[in-house]
Order: sequence, then structure tokens, then C-alpha cells
Amino acid sequence: MITLAVETSCDETALALFSSESGIIGDVLLSQAVHSEFGGVVPELSAREHTRNILPLFDKLLKDTGMDISKIDFVSFTLTPGLILSLVIGVAFAKSLAYALRKPLVPVHHLEGHIYSIFLEKPIDYPFISLIVSGGHTDLYLVEDFGKYIFLGGTLDDAVGESYDKVAKLMGLSYPGGPIIDKLAQKGRPAYHLPRPLIGEDGLNMSFSGLKTAVRNIVMTGNYSKEDLACSFQQAVVDVLEKKVIRAVELTGVRNIAVVGGVSANSELRRRFKELSEKHNYQVYFPKPKFSTDNACMIAYAGVERFKRGITAPLDINPEPNTPLELFGKEWS
Ligand code: ATP
Ligand code: MG
Ligand code: FE
Repeated sequence: MITLAVETSCDETALALFSSESGIIGDVLLSQAVHSEFGGVVPELSAREHTRNILPLFDKLLKDTGMDISKIDFVSFTLTPGLILSLVIGVAFAKSLAYALRKPLVPVHHLEGHIYSIFLEKPIDYPFISLIVSGGHTDLYLVEDFGKYIFLGGTLDDAVGESYDKVAKLMGLSYPGGPIIDKLAQKGRPAYHLPRPLIGEDGLNMSFSGLKTAVRNIVMTGNYSKEDLACSFQQAVVDVLEKKVIRAVELTGVRNIAVVGGVSANSELRRRFKELSEKHNYQVYFPKPKFSTDNACMIAYAGVERFKRGITAPLDINPEPNTPLELFGKEWS
């Protein structure tokens, strides 16, 4: 079986051709550069970029792979969550193609895509704890099986990726700030004392907006080391994530841990979780760095699993800005 997967939930326009037997046939991805000077994604600009780029990217994918479109068995696409103006473009494209080819449509939850980004390399054993750390989400889920997600806890305010981007903006750096702060941090020392909100709390809730405010207060003094502040911020973030994962293991007894989403590309997070796995005898998994951030291959993987379970949707389905993962698909599957 072959699926074409479509991802346009934020600022990546991404398409992939994927075989249920042999994996990725080909993929194309365009990361929108227009947002760099704004310190975050501008929804209207994002939608325009998706509109401009999606058809040329599809042509390129077909050319690169030599694939005949009649070979596509179904179309997988991100339905939710995301910027509604951006989702609309991918959903309209997916629906049009499915209609033209008379093939089924398989909606995928973006976070389910992130969770399965690890499986693109090799499937891991159930159950596992998934720490999703991305631009819009910072959540812990217990994954019991495909489609069986139990929400354990998450951020009460900013997502970790969002904090990285906001801290970068405060320091006058461009968007996306995560990779830039990550690089700067490697040249600095943890010289600044920053808060680690809710780290001592028993539960699995997290909070990162106070940390960002503490960074702002230091930036406002006008006299600080970018490297040291980046390093201090990164340490605070990783300390909190590490502690919450240890707590999630204590509460669930599950020792398989999958760290996914854009921030899972972070070098310090990877280093510390590797140490953690050695110290506590956890199995810790990360996606390949190119599958940490948004891509269509992860959507294809989840799409195939959904299609195998007979989940398809009608052509009049509409994008949803923010449906929680644990409630996804209840109304149309
Ligand atoms: P969501 O998946 O929650 O809908 P999104 O799709 O916008 O949000 P992703 O593409 O998964 O998010 O991740 C993008 C985020 O990852 C950005 O906030 C970016 O700064 C962050 N990021 C990318 N690389 C790194 C890194 N090396 N260190 C820290 N953060 C990073
Ligand atoms: Mg992005
Ligand atoms: Fe994402």
C-alpha cells in the first residue's frame, strides 16, 4: 500500500510518499523563511507560502520518485492541531487529490505523527511514555498501543519550543530560536540562576512562562552574556523535563521513554536523557534529528496505521485548530 502524506500545520510545507511495506519512497519539505524576522510564525504569511509552494512541491516529489499518481492508494494528512489558515491549505490539497483519484482520505493528528516519528527508524515496544516537546506542545502521554493515548500531564502555559523562540526573540535572535539557543548554549556556562517552575511538585504539570520572564529580566539589564544566558536557560528547561520524566516513570512503572517533537533535536536534552537511561536503566528513544521537527514522513506512518484499522473520513471533513489527541477522531471514525 502506498500513501501520499500532507503536512501543513505550521511553517513547514511537507509531502511524502510512503509504502506500508518498505517505508519512505520520497519526501519533500520546505521550511518557510519569511517568519525569521518576526520572532514567530505569522499565520497569514504561512498560509500564503503553503498556497504558493504545495503544488510545485508535489510535482517535485513525483519527479524525484518517478511515481505515477495512480499508484497512490490513499491520502494521509494532518487534520489538527495547528494554525487553522495553514491547515486549510493542506486539507484542501489532500481532499482534492483524494477526490480526483477516487481514493480514501485518512486524517492524522499531528501529535500522533510526532509520537510515531521514532517508528520511522524502528518500532519500539508498548507501553511507552511519550514526552512531546514542540513549538506548540509540551505533554506527557502514556502510549498503550496505536491510538491508545493516556494524557499524564503537560505545560500549563508556554510550550518548551515556544519558550526557546521567545527567549531568542528577547535576545534579538531570529526565528526559529531553538537551534540558535542550542548552539549558543554549547559555548556558555550556567552562570545565571533561573527558576525551575513546578520542578518539586508531585504531579506532571509543567510551566515555562516564569522562566521566560526571568530571562527577560536579565536581558533588560542590558549587560549579559548571550552564551551564558542561553546555557542557563537550556539547563533549567532540561532539568524540569528530566525530573518530570522520572516522576512519570515512578507513577506508571513504564521505563520505555520516547522523546519527540521539534525540541527533541536539542543536543543537551539528548545528552542528558542518554545519561538518564544509563543511570536509571530506562530505554530512551529519540527520532532521527530530521524527523524531530515537522515532516510528512511521520504523518504517513501514522496514516498507514490508521488506514490498516479502517479509519477514513468523508470528503467534507474540515480542519480543526486544537483537538486533543485523546479525543481525536471520535466524531467521524
Ligand atoms: P506542534 O508540533 O506543537 O504543533 P510545531 O509543529 O510548530 O508545534 P515542531 O516543528 O515540532 O513544532 O518544533 C518546532 C520547535 O522546535 C520550534 O519552537 C523550534 O525552536 C524548536 N527546536 C528545533 N530545534 C531545536 C533545538 N535544537 N533545540 C531546542 N528547540 C528546538
Ligand atoms: Mg516549524
Ligand atoms: Fe510539530
